[in-house]
Amino acid sequence: LVRLRARLARSQSTLGRGLLTLLSREHLDDDAWEAIEESLLTADVGVKPTGEIVERLRERTRVLGTREVGELRALLAEELVAAIGKDTDRTLHTTPHDDRPAIVLMVGVNGTGKTTTCGKLARVLVADGRTVLLGAADTFRAAAADQLTTWASRVGAEVVRGPEGGDPAAVAFDTVKRGIQDKVDTVLIDTAGRLQNKTGLMDELGKVKRVISRHGEVDETLLVLDATTGQNGLAQARVFTEVVDVTGLVLTKLDGTAKGGIVIAVQRELGIPVKLVGLGEGPDDLAPFDAEQFVDALLG
Ligand code: GDP
Repeated sequence: LVRLRARLARSQSTLGRGLLTLLSREHLDDDAWEAIEESLLTADVGVKPTGEIVERLRERTRVLGTREVGELRALLAEELVAAIGKDTDRTLHTTPHDDRPAIVLMVGVNGTGKTTTCGKLARVLVADGRTVLLGAADTFRAAAADQLTTWASRVGAEVVRGPEGGDPAAVAFDTVKRGIQDKVDTVLIDTAGRLQNKTGLMDELGKVKRVISRHGEVDETLLVLDATTGQNGLAQARVFTEVVDVTGLVLTKLDGTAKGGIVIAVQRELGIPVKLVGLGEGPDDLAPFDAEQFVDALLG
């Protein structure tokens, strides 16, 4: 939590700053409410969720007779947690089956942090005593397989790679096959995220999934989203949810943005739980997502 707070603080959370400004006011007047709305919007919470959150806050402060801006922080935190989903199931399905490894697929637009997240997640699993096999199915970006191989040796995992420009589905197939042979616990497959057109993407990811399913169904499909791309990234992410059955979101680069409120927007818009957050480029900069801790850090 301390690290999360430090990382978010480094990005100077606009919500935290907005709230600080509010603390200097005495009354919750219209100006104050406007300022709250403003800071939620600036933090990328999104227009609709912001409207709803402010509406509920106004109602609650009216009922409770809240006058102190200090008390407002607690109420706002509650509303933000509720908007994110307090009891949402964020279980990451990485536990091996009796006869095969757990299969995790990493999807998302290029540059969002898929390869890095594969490496960091492998690190978490290895530290947890699991054996991990990485599959370099991003065969389109020349450096992707090298990057994944570097991560593998760094965190103590094995890697399967194919020829450059080869068939991603073939690499995915071979990775799972080897994972079964070697009795590996978890297989993580990095994919390419070329968004040239929806049909192309659908064909490619569809084929990857189909081919893997000859060994067993994918247990977890994680969609990686770059928090710094805000609402634009959200639109791109939506395309992925339309072509593949996404089971969890990974929000990366939260260390590099003041717009942490995007967590609320993406989860509500896509209806998929945020399961992991990326807080830097290093091997230990991946954290499981916890709504209460996150909001606490966000509010500074
Ligand atoms: P991919 O194309 O989706 O596989 O993206 P990469 O994994 O290659 O990441 C793209 C860039 O983003 C790299 O320079 C990463 O180091 C960086 N990156 C990934 N995750 C994070 C994060 O959580 N925080 C920061 N600051 N940088 C990140």
